This record gives sequence, C-alpha cells and structure tokens, in this order.
Amino acid sequence: MSRISVYLVLVIFFLANISCNGKSQLIEKVSLDTSNKACNIIFLIGDGMGLSQLSSAYFYSESEPNFSRFPVIGLSKTRSGSHKITDSAAGATAFSTGKKTYNGAIGVDMDTNAVVTITEELSSMGWATGYISTSSITHATPASFYAHVPSRIMQEEIAKQLVYSGVNFFAGGGYNWFINRSDSVDYTDTLKANGFFLDTNSILKVADSSFDKWAYLLAPDGLQPKHLGRDDFLSQATEKAIQFLDAKGSPFFLVVEGSQIDWGGHANIGEYVIQETLDFDKAVGVALDYAQKHENTLVVVTADHETGGFTLAGEQNVGPFMTISRDYNSLVPSFSTGGHSCAMVPVFAYGKSAKLFSGVYENTNIYSIFKEIVSQ
Ligand code: MG
Ligand code: ZN
Repeated sequence: MSRISVYLVLVIFFLANISCNGKSQLIEKVSLDTSNKACNIIFLIGDGMGLSQLSSAYFYSESEPNFSRFPVIGLSKTRSGSHKITDSAAGATAFSTGKKTYNGAIGVDMDTNAVVTITEELSSMGWATGYISTSSITHATPASFYAHVPSRIMQEEIAKQLVYSGVNFFAGGGYNWFINRSDSVDYTDTLKANGFFLDTNSILKVADSSFDKWAYLLAPDGLQPKHLGRDDFLSQATEKAIQFLDAKGSPFFLVVEGSQIDWGGHANIGEYVIQETLDFDKAVGVALDYAQKHENTLVVVTADHETGGFTLAGEQNVGPFMTISRDYNSLVPSFSTGGHSCAMVPVFAYGKSAKLFSGVYENTNIYSIFKEIVSQ
C-alpha cells in the first residue's frame, strides 16, 4: 500500500468516527470544521395528528405521501402528568424536557419549576435553533421549546421570552403578542435591537446577509387555514429555515409544527383536517429531501396527541324498516369529540440514529433519544 493510500484509509477511519457533537478526539485532530457539521435534527410535530389524520393523507392525495419515505416507525403514548388526555402544552413540554407535566404547562414541571429544554441546551453548546408554526409562534407547541411559564395563556410573556431565547430563526403568526401588549412595549423593536431581520408580510422575503437571526411574523395570531387559502408557507418556511441554519456551519435543531391539524379536529371540519395534514406532509418532504443529501441529519415526525376522535368511516344510510346499509367506498370524515383523545400517535424517523425510534413508548422517550443522540 502506498503512503497516500495509507493516509486515505486513516482519513476514512477518522471520518467514520465523527460523533454527533464532535467530541471524538480522533476527528478533532483531523478537522474541527468537519466535526462541527456532524449532526442536524429536524423535528416535525403535526399537532393533533393521529392515525386517521395520517390515513387521510393517503386517501385524499393523488401522490404517495412523504410519510411513506420513513424506514422507522414507532408509537407514542401521550398522556400528561395530570390527565389521561394531554393538551398541546404538556405534550410539547414532554418532547422538549423529557418531563411529564400538567396540562397547560409550558417548559415547567409539575411544580411549575422551569426545566431546561433540548433546544436551550443545544443552543448553549453552539447549535443553531429554529421554530416554525402555522399558529402564533407563541402558541403552546413552539413555546414549550423556548419559554417557561406556568400557563399557556401567558402569550405576552412567552413572546418576550422568545426574543431573549437565543433562537436563530423563527416563522409563524402572532405579531399581536409582540405589538399590541398590555405593557405597551413593542417587542418587534426589541427583536430588531437584538439583531433580528424581521418581516411581517411574506416568508419569501430574504434578509440581507448582515443579519444573523431571521424572524417572520406573518399574521396577528394564527395563519389562515389551508382550506381557506393559506399559501405554501409551511413547506417554504421549512426550506428557508434549513438553508439558513445549514449555512451557519454548526449543527442545528429545527422544530416545525403543522399547528392546525388540531384546529380542524376541534372544529370537526374534515376538509380542514385533511388539507392541513397534506400541507404538513409537504413540509415533511422538504425535510427528507435535505436529509437524503446530508446523511448526518435526523428527521423525526410525530404528534403531541390526537384531536377530534377523528375517523374515516364508510357512508351509512338508513333504508326502509330502519335497515342500515354502508358504502365502504364512500368515506365520511367523522368525529367523536370537539377535544383531544388519548389515542397513541405515530412517530416516524429517518437518518442518523433513526432506529432508536422504533417501538411503543412514552412521549418523554422522544426527548431521551434526542439527548442520547446528541451526547454520543
Ligand atoms: Mg400546537
Ligand atoms: Zn388542541
């Protein structure tokens, strides 16, 4: 073997030992740059997306949903620390902190003590972080990753905490919580004073390169529902966030929420649920496209809980003498509640360490697996 060949074999050996947080001493000797790019996590949450919502993507889409691209599937048990049926605050706090807490809690435990979240911890280790939602960005799901308040209704305080959270990119609705506040402070000014590029019109607007933090607040509260005309905000924001975070050269953790699958369930409107699920699937596709080209990326998709007791049942007709006929070729989106249910929800994983997400487990386990992966 020539000297060059021996060198190449050694380099390949070193590269094969890259760990997620770049702590491998071997690789540090070779290239710090390479180790810094060793891992990215894209975590997509379909709020309220149970198995029937997921199934709707298969029955109401002309093409195969992106959900089919995942090699690893698990099931998550969603109960909270206080109730058999969780809300989104306790559900997302389980993902962000690994703690079961009470319904309504944002980034705090059962005793209302603040718990450091996975994104806060990674941010302090030099990772870039981002949050995207089709609700207000201060709504329970994204808030549980960067805020610590005893109640999800404290959205003014949550907005304030977002500004100082160390986040690099966020996009969603909710500028009312930054501007029209009871304390009269304009937190969009504070955002700009803290180095953010801010746009309130379109996700397509590009910041000039002098800004190293980007924020998009595109509606007073939640964005428009998809079935009433929302554009491709969710997939476009996901693409933009990935490009922005990738360019930073450090590992990144991006949280993407399809918020309104849940709202369609609460409203008991089948078309709302279905269009939001298909829209979410598009964003999932964007994340997977990136992960396919960047093999040290992990993509995880799950839900905080199921909403609506949703199902796709066959059309039922009552004939003469109360005879019932059912048409198993005519689906009727139906609901059993205007609230959430306790049904388990799917977990999909692709990429680095994805196999760890196989099985049936508590929602807090998703946090534990993230921790394990980034500590490797
Ligand atoms: Mg939500
Ligand atoms: Zn809900």
